[in-house]
Amino acid sequence: MRKTKGFISVILCIAMIALLFVPVMAEVDTETCSHQWRWVTDVAATCGDDGVQHQICVLCSATRNENTPLPATGNHDLEWILDAAPTCGQTGIEHQYCNLCHHTYNEGTLISATGEHTWAWVVDTAPTCGEAGSQHRECTVCGQPDPYTAGTVIQATGKHKWIEGDVISESTCIVHGQREDTCEYCGGTRLFELELAEHTWDEGYVSLEPGCAEKGYMVYTCTVEGCNAQKSVVIPATGNHVDADGNGQCDVCGVSMPATVSSGTTLWNIIQSVIDFFTMLYNRIAALFS
Ligand SMILES: [Zn+2]
Ligand SMILES: [Zn+2]
Ligand SMILES: [Zn+2]
Ligand SMILES: [Zn+2]
Ligand SMILES: [Zn+2]
Ligand SMILES: [Zn+2]
Repeated sequence: MRKTKGFISVILCIAMIALLFVPVMAEVDTETCSHQWRWVTDVAATCGDDGVQHQICVLCSATRNENTPLPATGNHDLEWILDAAPTCGQTGIEHQYCNLCHHTYNEGTLISATGEHTWAWVVDTAPTCGEAGSQHRECTVCGQPDPYTAGTVIQATGKHKWIEGDVISESTCIVHGQREDTCEYCGGTRLFELELAEHTWDEGYVSLEPGCAEKGYMVYTCTVEGCNAQKSVVIPATGNHVDADGNGQCDVCGVSMPATVSSGTTLWNIIQSVIDFFTMLYNRIAALFS
């Protein structure tokens, strides 16, 4: 108990003595102070931004060199960002970005064009039926003409659309006539060969007379000069058989001819046949029971 009281008394004494000295310390004269300067950071510098600092005297608290820049460290965490990808024919653009200070650096840095073109033929002039066209190769991406491949000709299609024109010469049976046709697209012309005409037949003559059973022939000749085409036409057999000797056969061709009997006799023949049939039938049955 006594020990505690004594300790508190000592603390109080020290406090009182300290209070006596405080005004004395605060009253250190800035004019006469032999300053001891120390840098104080107001705003810390980053990798990309300067900081701010000033100096303060540790003895009299005077300040100087207010707003003195504290240099940026430059210890960026940089990353390349693509602004425009390069193509076969165009340079690309990129810049750097700091993940720490969020500033961009090296803006507008160029990336070389790849040079890997995609070549394709491009038609300059389409061919028509009558006229050739032309084409060249260029890059489908950047449009640069292929420096290694020359342009070429595209052959005319030859696919004319013919419109029938005037007949220049009519066909005969031996000479083809001609017609001049015109192409609707190119205006080109062609001579079109017409079909041969029909022959012009004379009245003809009988080269073989037909018989009662055999066919005959007519021969016709074309009347056009220089043609001489012939055609033969069948004359049917007459069918007029003759049986003068009455033997039931044609005297000319020998074909059997129907008997020339009266209708009365024919009826009698039928009755006779019926009688003969039943007689034969009766005889057969009689024979079975005898
Ligand atoms: Zn000072
Ligand atoms: Zn940075
Ligand atoms: Zn290209
Ligand atoms: Zn044409
Ligand atoms: Zn003829
Ligand atoms: Zn006959």
